[in-house]
Formats: sequence, C-alpha cells, structure tokens
Amino acid sequence: MNFSDVFRSIEPDKLKLELYSKTERDVRKALVNPQGNIDALIALLSPAATPFIEQMAQLSASLTRQRFGANLALYLPLYVSNLCANECDYCGFTMSNKIKRKTLNQTELQQEIDIIKAKGFDHVLLVSGEHETKVGIDYFEAIFAQVKSAFSHVAIEVQPLKQDEYARLNDHGLDAVMIYQETYQQRTYARHHTRGKKQDFSYRLDTPDRIARAGVDKIGLGVLLGLDDWRLDALLMGHHLAYLEQKYWRTKYSISLPRLRPCTGGITPKSEISDLGLVQLICAFRLFNQQLEISLSTRETPELRDNLLGLGVTNLSAESSTEPGGYANPQSQLDQFEISDDRSTQEIVQVMKAKGFQPVWKDWEAAW
Ligand code: SF4
Repeated sequence: MNFSDVFRSIEPDKLKLELYSKTERDVRKALVNPQGNIDALIALLSPAATPFIEQMAQLSASLTRQRFGANLALYLPLYVSNLCANECDYCGFTMSNKIKRKTLNQTELQQEIDIIKAKGFDHVLLVSGEHETKVGIDYFEAIFAQVKSAFSHVAIEVQPLKQDEYARLNDHGLDAVMIYQETYQQRTYARHHTRGKKQDFSYRLDTPDRIARAGVDKIGLGVLLGLDDWRLDALLMGHHLAYLEQKYWRTKYSISLPRLRPCTGGITPKSEISDLGLVQLICAFRLFNQQLEISLSTRETPELRDNLLGLGVTNLSAESSTEPGGYANPQSQLDQFEISDDRSTQEIVQVMKAKGFQPVWKDWEAAW
C-alpha cells in the first residue's frame, strides 16, 4: 500500500470545511496537546488560530530550542541542469520557455563545487529540471561520487525516480531526497502541470514511499504556497507526513514551505499567503511535530528570514544561485526563479551569531 491508496479516502472538501469552521475554543484545546494530533493541526492552521499566533510562536520557539538547541544548519543548492520535459506554468525551467538550456559536465561541476566549498558549505542540495532521458539516473550516478567526495551531506531534488534507482544512489552515499507535491489539490495540480510525466499526480504522491523503501535516511516534503488554498495544502501535507512517519519510522523528515516567486513567464498566486500566514504555518508544524526539520530558502526577504530565526526553522540556504553553473558564471536568463535574499553567506552568518545562533556547516559524521 502507498500513500495514494490512503489519499483516496481523504476528502479535501470536507477537510476544508473543517478548517474554516474551527473556533477559538478548538484552537485553545489544540494548544494543550498538539503533538502528532491531526485534529489539533487543523485548528492551528485554521483562520481561528490567527489571534493565537504570538502564543504559537513562543511555544514553537521553545520546542525548537529544546530539540535543536541554538543550531541552524546551512546548505546551498547546486543546480546541475535546467533541462526539463515538463510543462509547469509557475517555473522558469518549464519546457516551452525559450531559455538557454545547460547541463553541467564534470569540469563545470568541479568549478561549482570549488566555489561552494570556498564559501564554507559542507551540505549541498543537487537540483535539476526533470528530464529523464538526458538527465536521468545514469547522469546522477556518474556525478555523485565527485560531489560526495567534496561534501559530507548530499541531498537531491530531481524528478521522481524508481525505488531501485534511489537504492543505487543510496549505495553511493545519498543522504536525503526532497520531493515536493507542489499542491495536493488534484484539479489545481492538473491545471498547472500540463505536459510530461509530472502530470501523473499519483506517481509523484507515492514517491516518498519509494524513497523510504530504498532506505534513504531523510525525505523532504513541500508544497508551493499560492497555487491553491495554502491552509488546505499544508494540512494535506500534514496527513502525508503523519502517514510516512507511522509507516517508515526509521526515516527522518523535513518540510519546505516555498511561496510562489516571479520567474520567466510565470503566474500570479491564486491564494496569497502573508508573512503572518507563513509564521502560522511554521509554528503549526513545529507544534505538530517536534522532530521535523523545517527549511527556509532565499526566496524570502532578508527581514523576514532574520525574524523567523529561532521560531521553528532549522535549515537555511544562503547566497544561492538557481541556475546551472551560476556560482562560476552567473547569467540570470537561466534562473528557475528569482531570489529575495541576496546577502553574502558571511553577512547571514553574522546575523545568526548576533541573534545567539550557531551556524552548522556539517551536521554529522558517519561513524560506521
Ligand atoms: S517545476 Fe520542476 S518539473 Fe516543473 S518545469 Fe520546473 S524544473 Fe521542470
């Protein structure tokens, strides 16, 4: 059984009604016992929780401090290709966009690695568009040893792979896979994904099952906030997380909460989420799950990122480029989306330290 089998029994319209009919009394009750409690998550994500965001933030900050200390892990995305065989109307890499396409060869990859290392990073996220035939498992396998020999933690964010393909990368030392459903609302999903394999909603939905079965240590879930009602998307992701944690309890989990950003030929959000809404989301997930890693990208502004430190976020990117080869040769025409926080890594580290946080470049060392 996979998550898509469970998902069929979830009724999103009913959940939405629940979300919008929660009361202050429900939120107060949720605050008493939020951990692993889906009913509490519904209340904490609901509009009724808005007056409680300050209280949620204090609780979330204290739970995050208890579990993660004053540590904030730093990582950098390493884009290896912008080739893509899908049509997603919110992304600069979408197939029909007439941008210059590029896949890094080993020399170009090494240039990127050297620059990222020189910035001090030891944790990278390999990112590519989704082009199975030209940038598939053979390409990832061919470059993996080169990347892994330079960094102690290597995660990937690429097209959904088969279970045996994840297992092959796991044998090479893969540490984590990020796979974002974008939206759990099927009609909206179909509207934004109009060509290519990504049209298959269920195959994507079952990808974390395949990753976990392949024995990968950590899985990252995510929704693109703004494609549809963000409260409902977050809640459905909460269901997905709860299912995975119960079934694959040895695996670690993280979430990412990116908001729609401008890109070449992009769209405007259907349901905009405010800064306060983002705070509510982060705190609701921290209260729901105290072990969960929560990642924040450079899509957000410096002011907001600085204010979110300590509230629930555990992983941050800094000085990111979202184009293949972008650290050695920046050319914004190849970007996947625009970034908002373009401060240097050192500036961000200084802010972290001034606020009493410890930047973590290397999370752990495999001892056996
Ligand atoms: S979101 Fe991913 S799959 Fe869709 S166009 Fe962009 S890179 Fe391709």
